[in-house]
Amino acid sequence: MTDLNSDCLFCRIISGKIPAKKVYEDEHVFAFEDIKPKAPTHVLIVPKKHFAGLNEAQAEDADVIGRCHLVAAEIARQRNVEQGYRTVVNVGPGAGQTVFHLHVHLLGGRGLNWPPG
Ligand code: 5GP
Ligand code: ZN
Repeated sequence: MTDLNSDCLFCRIISGKIPAKKVYEDEHVFAFEDIKPKAPTHVLIVPKKHFAGLNEAQAEDADVIGRCHLVAAEIARQRNVEQGYRTVVNVGPGAGQTVFHLHVHLLGGRGLNWPPG
């Protein structure tokens, strides 16, 4: 994979340099357990290609952004939370983004309030 950024935490997880509990992997997408889960199911789904977030995404990234969401739906089915889960993409520090490699949070297994905080 040539699009990894050695300064990026999630690129280092994808390449195995930093350990994580892998949930899913294919050619384009990698998923792993969040280290500080905010719900019984809290999985992070990331494109293998490095880009910082939705603000930096290009038209060519549309496919992998969609793939990340389809992987979230599949993991939700595997965890039996498909009756109520949430996918979240935090965009920018003002929304709580702390890792600047696009990631979809999959949260489930408990009640989820709306609107989110
Ligand atoms: P953000 O706040 O950027 O939307 O989400 C970043 C997420 O990455 C947080 O939920 C945080 O707990 C998780 N995280 C941060 N560092 C690590 C790590 O080293 N390993 C794993 N598995 N998750 C991490
Ligand atoms: Zn990265």
